[in-house]
Amino acid sequence: MNEFRAPVFMSAKEVLGYDLPTYPYRMPEEQRTGQAQRHPVVVVGAGLVGLTVAVDLACRDIPVVVLDDSDTVGARGLSSRGVNFARRSLEIWDRLGMGHRVAEKGVVWNTHRTYQGADTIYAYEMNLDPDQKHPAILALQQYHVEQFLIERLAELGVADVRWRNEVTSVTSMPDHAVVEVQTPDGTYRTESDYLLACDGAHSVVRRSLGLDSAEMAFDRWFISDVKIDTPIARERHLWIDPPFHEGRCALLIEMADGVWRTDMQVGEGADMSDAVTPERAMERLDRMFGDDASYGIVWAGAYSFQFRALDQFRHDRIFFLGDAAHENPPFGGRGGNGGIQDADNLAWKLDLVLNGSAPDALLDSYQAERHPAAIENIAQTARSCWFLSPQSPGRRLLRDAVLSFSKTDPDIRLLVNTGRMSVPFVYESSDLNTTDADLWQAGPAPGTAAPNTKVDLLDGTDAASAHVFDARNHGFLCLYFAESAGDVSAEFRQAMRDITEQGVPFEARLIVSQKAADPEFLTFHDASGQAFAEYGANASDGYLLRPDGHVAARWRGWDGSGMESALRQARGEGPVVDSRTGKGDAGTGKLDLPDPPRDDEILFERLVSAVDSQADDMVVPFLRHLVLRLGLRTQSPDVLSNAVAASLKDLEPDLS
Ligand SMILES: Cc1cc2nc3c(=O)[nH]c(=O)nc-3n(C[C@H](O)[C@H](O)[C@H](O)COP(=O)(O)OP(=O)(O)OC[C@H]3O[C@@H](n4cnc5c(N)ncnc54)[C@H](O)[C@@H]3O)c2cc1C
Repeated sequence: MNEFRAPVFMSAKEVLGYDLPTYPYRMPEEQRTGQAQRHPVVVVGAGLVGLTVAVDLACRDIPVVVLDDSDTVGARGLSSRGVNFARRSLEIWDRLGMGHRVAEKGVVWNTHRTYQGADTIYAYEMNLDPDQKHPAILALQQYHVEQFLIERLAELGVADVRWRNEVTSVTSMPDHAVVEVQTPDGTYRTESDYLLACDGAHSVVRRSLGLDSAEMAFDRWFISDVKIDTPIARERHLWIDPPFHEGRCALLIEMADGVWRTDMQVGEGADMSDAVTPERAMERLDRMFGDDASYGIVWAGAYSFQFRALDQFRHDRIFFLGDAAHENPPFGGRGGNGGIQDADNLAWKLDLVLNGSAPDALLDSYQAERHPAAIENIAQTARSCWFLSPQSPGRRLLRDAVLSFSKTDPDIRLLVNTGRMSVPFVYESSDLNTTDADLWQAGPAPGTAAPNTKVDLLDGTDAASAHVFDARNHGFLCLYFAESAGDVSAEFRQAMRDITEQGVPFEARLIVSQKAADPEFLTFHDASGQAFAEYGANASDGYLLRPDGHVAARWRGWDGSGMESALRQARGEGPVVDSRTGKGDAGTGKLDLPDPPRDDEILFERLVSAVDSQADDMVVPFLRHLVLRLGLRTQSPDVLSNAVAASLKDLEPDLS
């Protein structure tokens, strides 16, 4: 995303009471000696994604080197940038040992409110399930998260983080990467078995490899972080055509430290140097909050949003993650959260390959699994953008129709798309999955992220509230369901011991209906039956989860057999992975986007295309024909009468 520099209003420290931390530069040993060393993994970029993958690798005792051109967190100042972090990211950070810090610091909002003009047209509640460990979305300035990740890296102690080490070029070799680095003391060269390019939207690694693709710039937004005294409901407020910013959209969300994030659309062709002047910024904020409001601006600037995805995320020993690999507008928090899922997907695979427990082919599954995820995120955010800023007459016509009917018609309301929140991608067709051999009516299918269900952890017959992934290690996880611990067969126990002895990082946990702990396995009591229900399990069913929590395999009436072969499959020893899976054209930046997930959304898109394919003067005749045809197709006077009555009712406010 392109950033237009911020004007300075007053010291952010004055408003916030704190400043960003800075980290010391030290001349690297390699530069001092002039001797390049070969490291197992070098991460380029200590941003959100680079730090997440570095912490994951450090948790696995891999001595990772992290190179960053700056000496602080955040995006060139106290800009919140990423603000919405999804439940999935919190679960990943829990495993990395710092999720609790994000959860403690962040702000939870439960209502997602959309206005047209000054009126609410749609408000829905989130976080209605009290048994979830984390909210669906948590709001926190990205720089706080990055600081927690850096502190976690320091605690783990195995990483070598090098501040003010700017990577100037990278050369890809078949079995390693060569990195040229610029520091305040000059230049030096280092090498790595694997290089993870996490250097963001303007990736130097991407440029070095000649992979730069055209960006599709989309829309421009003025953004500011504001500390305000006026009370505002703790909700996500999104306005379409608000009275304080006519003809455009605006967004308001509370983050940590009493700071609110405001986003105001300024349009594709806007003059950004004018948009970010202090006068224009304050003019907009005064209109939003009212002349009497007292606020302090922490940061203000503007971003233009783009879509982009590399065709290939793996190039020999170089992997692209986060914004270096793919970019999308921020609606639904799919940029950073998607990048965190990249990190979660790659770290365990790299660990297994580096320690000789899996073949190199396992790493190809990163492309096969994460490229479609990136395309899905781009498609989802593109549709949100198109809704907020219709780019064609047909889209505007139908978007406006959805808005005008959505107050009264709950079916049409579902088409209001101001951002579909980030969720874990389903690796449905991954070659790492073992296909179900049994019939399952419910529960997460292979490739799906397993739910972190609420249970009670048993110690003898004492129980403490917990979730199934609490304090899990970084390996594979077997969840076995039983009526009681006493029902667990000797065959199952032996199978688990055999796996453990093979040296693959692995843990088995029991989920039981009767409240008594097993002496061998960590045991959870499922008093409410929720875990059995969410996993669609009966007694003696079991799941094998990958280290990233996605289902690798599941069995009914299971005695532990088949586990070894499922583990081999999940370690990339099954059929050859198709590393070219996924669509996209790196040369042109054109992306072949999949259809939306829901039928009503597909129908909406078809209608938009149909209207847009008409010349201006043919739109009304075309719609006349369409109404006639669809009306006759109902073959039911009642269905048609109901639709007519509903449409008339929807139009009532306009007719009055
Ligand atoms: C306005 C806005 C709102 C957003 N909202 C959300 C949201 O709500 N939720 C969400 O999940 N995401 C959001 N995003 C997206 C999110 O901020 C990015 O997806 C995320 O920062 C990507 O992380 P990254 O680590 O890939 O890249 P970055 O965060 O850009 O980090 C790249 C790092 O690499 C370093 N670097 C760059 N070049 C070099 C070099 N040559 N040598 C060494 N180091 C280098 C940089 O200094 C930086 O530290 C938003 C983005 C914007 C702009």
